[in-house]
Amino acid sequence: MLLHVCCAPDLVPAFFHLKKIEKVYFYNPNIYPKEEYKKRLNEVIKLSKEWDFKIIESKYEPEIFYNYVKGYENLGENSTRCEKCIYLRLFDTALKAKEIGEKEIATTLTSSPRKNLDKINKIGKLVEDKTGIKYIETYFRKGIEYQKALKYIKEKGIYRQNYCGCVFSLKETEIQKQKKLLERQEKLQKLGFEKFTLDPEVLVVDENIFELIHEKFIDIIEIIRPKILVTNNVFSQKLNLKDGWNKLGKYNLKVKIKDENEIKNWECDKC
Ligand code: SF4
Repeated sequence: MLLHVCCAPDLVPAFFHLKKIEKVYFYNPNIYPKEEYKKRLNEVIKLSKEWDFKIIESKYEPEIFYNYVKGYENLGENSTRCEKCIYLRLFDTALKAKEIGEKEIATTLTSSPRKNLDKINKIGKLVEDKTGIKYIETYFRKGIEYQKALKYIKEKGIYRQNYCGCVFSLKETEIQKQKKLLERQEKLQKLGFEKFTLDPEVLVVDENIFELIHEKFIDIIEIIRPKILVTNNVFSQKLNLKDGWNKLGKYNLKVKIKDENEIKNWECDKC
């Protein structure tokens, strides 16, 4: 079987499901820019060394992708643009399988949290009808294997991209990000806390900050999302926080409880 692989974080769930992989085909002319293509390929190469499988790599030919999705560029993610992009990659995988004498193909795309798996499998069947190469239906995003894979990805520090792959998805992700930032800023404004910055490395809760935010503490933390909150024993007790991870509403907050001097030093070192 020839497994089409789109990226390392999607390959891991596939591996946990299949248990053994012999060869993969890295065919992704959609990925933009070239540096990102190389980065995703390098992560797959690392896994090939660990799990001992062969990688067949195609040339990087983005113009094939651009020609194929011409006229559909601005339709957004999960549109006809994506169906064509998936068809293009699976069709080429089937041709490669034929060339090297393989009779079946599958794809790691069904690991993706952003894709409709039934749609991918339907496209796979279309490719099967067209080429005569059997497409194996998969649902790599499901099951205990997927949960184990997520843990593995985190533990090994495998690179996880934050956009699907093409230049259009990169722009769409950026627009979404800006929209969400704006929404958070507006929420802060409504609460009257616009002087706080979003996503700070550290939020130090001393007497002044405590007085200011304690009544709407969870709401504010959920909006500004500090990486670490540093405070002392007194305020941690009043805010019901423990040293380490704390679940605050929808946000997992890391808390460090320090004495006053340590807090001052922390501020000097980190802020
Ligand atoms: S969003 Fe993803 S699947 Fe859709 S066209 Fe771009 S790279 Fe392909």
